[in-house]
Amino acid sequence: MTISELHDKTKAYLFDLDGTLYLGERLIEGAPEALAFLRGAGKRIVFLTNNSSKTALRYEEKLRNMGLFEDGDLVYTSATATVHYLLRHFRGKQIYLVATEEVKEEFISAGVHVGEEDPDVAVLAYDTELTFAKIEKLDALLRRGIVYLATHPDDVCPTETGFKPDVGSFLKLFERSAGRLPDRVIGKPFPDMAKGVLSHLNLRSDEVCMVGDRLYTDIRFANRNKMSSVLVLSGESNLLSLSKFPDKPDLVLPSVKSLIPPAKNSG
Ligand SMILES: [Mg+2]
Repeated sequence: MTISELHDKTKAYLFDLDGTLYLGERLIEGAPEALAFLRGAGKRIVFLTNNSSKTALRYEEKLRNMGLFEDGDLVYTSATATVHYLLRHFRGKQIYLVATEEVKEEFISAGVHVGEEDPDVAVLAYDTELTFAKIEKLDALLRRGIVYLATHPDDVCPTETGFKPDVGSFLKLFERSAGRLPDRVIGKPFPDMAKGVLSHLNLRSDEVCMVGDRLYTDIRFANRNKMSSVLVLSGESNLLSLSKFPDKPDLVLPSVKSLIPPAKNSG
């Protein structure tokens, strides 16, 4: 597929954040220009992240400050997708939610019934305010056989200084202690994240392109959910890791800057 063929068929571009648009606090060169080009061509811009430790609004502020977010763009996190999943399948049920205070507020204001008395479902989000009391409570609920959801599967979260343990690492903890794996994981590469964002955008999967730097989340997400995909080599993948991985993207670009087609020579 060429870049012009991709632009012709695509109505919305879903962008991964870290490794794709920035590295830590540093913008990837040409990222704001690439987004501006796509908006100018009438494309919808969506920022899609598995990180469920911050609210969509917090991401919007961060992206706006970095010159990446404009009115009309959308932030869609694995927490947003989990809220949509809960409202579709467990509306009115009580949810025991392990999450940061701000993400808990986001669930509650979206209409999720968060409580601790007699929950029907337990949800593990990326809780960077995790305490032993919360671990103990979730463990006890899992032993009782309660429905168990996780916002996303990532083992680690990239930071400016290295990696932090992410939800996938905590899933291992509960696997060892309560003998349970989640009944469902919502975020990339799984289908509920795709269903949620596509129904929010009111688009079909073939009208959407995922742009990201991780093969086993971003590119696998696109392939499993029948979206187009672009792998950018500005983050954790290179041509060697691509050659060893079973899922292939439609296009490989050095960075998002290359989404701007080269100026055509006239004549
Ligand atoms: Mg990434």
